[in-house]
Amino acid sequence: MVGYSIDEVIDGKVLWSEMTPPEWRHLDIAALQQLKTIGVMEPVEKEYFHKNGSRIRVRVQGTNFEGSSEGIAYVQDITAQRKAEKDLAERDLELRSNQERLAMAISHARVGFYDWDVVENRIIFSDRMMRDWGLDEGHRIDTLESAMQLIHPEDRERVRGLINTAMLQKSTYEAEYRVVHPTGSMIWVEVHGSVIFDAKGKPIRFFGSSIDITKKKKQQEELKLAVAAFHNDRENFRTLFKQTPEMVCILRGPDHVFEFVNEAHIRALGFDATGMAVRVAQPESVEVHGILDGVYRTGKTAELREIPITLTDRLRYFNLTYSARRDEEGEIDGIMILGVEITDQVLAREALKKTELALKSAVRSRDEFLSIASHELKTPITSLKLQAQLALRRFQKAKPFTPEQISELMDMIERQANRLNRLVDDMLDIAHIRSGRLQIQRSRVRLDEFLAEAMLRFGPIFKQAETSISLSVEQSFEGDWDRVRLEQVLNNLLTNGLRYGNKKPISITLRRSPLQPSFARLEVRDEGRGISADALDRIFNRFERDVDRNEVSGLGLGLFITRQIVEAHGGKVWAESEGLQKGSTFIVELPISTG
Ligand code: ADP
Repeated sequence: MVGYSIDEVIDGKVLWSEMTPPEWRHLDIAALQQLKTIGVMEPVEKEYFHKNGSRIRVRVQGTNFEGSSEGIAYVQDITAQRKAEKDLAERDLELRSNQERLAMAISHARVGFYDWDVVENRIIFSDRMMRDWGLDEGHRIDTLESAMQLIHPEDRERVRGLINTAMLQKSTYEAEYRVVHPTGSMIWVEVHGSVIFDAKGKPIRFFGSSIDITKKKKQQEELKLAVAAFHNDRENFRTLFKQTPEMVCILRGPDHVFEFVNEAHIRALGFDATGMAVRVAQPESVEVHGILDGVYRTGKTAELREIPITLTDRLRYFNLTYSARRDEEGEIDGIMILGVEITDQVLAREALKKTELALKSAVRSRDEFLSIASHELKTPITSLKLQAQLALRRFQKAKPFTPEQISELMDMIERQANRLNRLVDDMLDIAHIRSGRLQIQRSRVRLDEFLAEAMLRFGPIFKQAETSISLSVEQSFEGDWDRVRLEQVLNNLLTNGLRYGNKKPISITLRRSPLQPSFARLEVRDEGRGISADALDRIFNRFERDVDRNEVSGLGLGLFITRQIVEAHGGKVWAESEGLQKGSTFIVELPISTG
């Protein structure tokens, strides 16, 4: 047992006292004491040193021989037994800890258990399940029916069906449903189950677990609602963006590919650019390309005001906002563009500016006109006054006029009076035209006769001005026109011919309009100072002149009145000139048919 041979024992190599390790020696002392007093040594368990130095577990007991101090000891090696016991204890501990772990796991997993004895129809719930299902001592369930009562009425039939299926098809049972506590509050549970059958295949036990999944359900519900809300919002925004009159588009990637464009953008571009890169869809908008690259690189929003863009051949103006789009990691992956068209506002503002300028120029013209008019009116008056003073002085000095001088004086007075008369007439006409009261009184007029009479009137005047006038009638016309007004037209054209014609002959031609055969055409041609191209039309406006006001006097009203009269007859008047110093032709066309 301790590794020594009999010989070694006989040789006295084995010492009793030293075989026991020191910590057990107190037991030896106690045993000897017992032997001495009662002659018996009760069994003790201790250790011996083995020859090889290891320890063995032993049980020792002994007794003295009757009336002797010698006796016999019985030593049993219990090493193996102790080891077996120890192993058992360890296994037991292990088992117990496993069970505890399981129990702990169960309680942590918040799982409840049920067990239904199908044959007896007795159902038992674990404590946990009781708690989950809102049961306590006062509310217990014992049969399947009483458990069923706790299931939400809307779920009850479905659950019953699933239980039956599991029992009929020998399948596992799995269901999610609502449980209504006796207090009225409601939870969601996930219940699993297995069925045990007897030898004949009849279900005898139905057991499984129940877990409260209310929180999970609620989260699922919230998630569903959130997803629905998100989709709804997304849809709303999509619809809004689709239909808004502003241009909205989303570009993707460094090549700025149109991912989303709205209807306003399609209308503006004339096509749907979805899937196209901006450089392909709008190759001409070079400035825009640079801006997009910048926003994509820096992420800085670009706000551009009143950007002119030619779209479908029309110049339009936009306020544009380019902002970077970022992915979940915050990296720029596209650009959003919002374009608000402001073409109308810009045009309105420009029109307003033009009107303002026109208004300013009108005010300037009026002021100028007033100063010219007063000057123009003063000139003949001053001249008349001078003549009157001169005549008076001569009378005072008793120096009578010769008949020639009187005639000259009268001519002069008449000329100045006429000039005054014409100025006043023009001004009155202007007043009439402004108030829309330029009256046309039609009567039968033969143009050739009308022109011949004018020649008689103007011939001497032109002669006096050291020039001449000629008339050529290619065809004569008759019509219903206002004779007095036509005289006014001709007077204006011929007087201008005299004033601006550089004393060169003037020719009048009457013929049919080569452009419109139903119109008679009257041309008054001079070889004078001519008219610059830009003034050709302008000179027909009120107060507009193509001469320096100090060079030739005038109000700038004659041609304006001429045009009003001709147009009141349904006709047209315009000027043609090769340029300055190349003479001018004034053309009047009147409709031959009346009405
Ligand atoms: P006014 O002669 O009093 O200035 P009008 O309305 O008759 O006013 O003429 C307007 C302007 O047209 C003149 O100031 C002149 O510059 C230009 N004009 C008119 N007739 C002629 C012409 N025959 N040749 C050159 N310029 C002319």
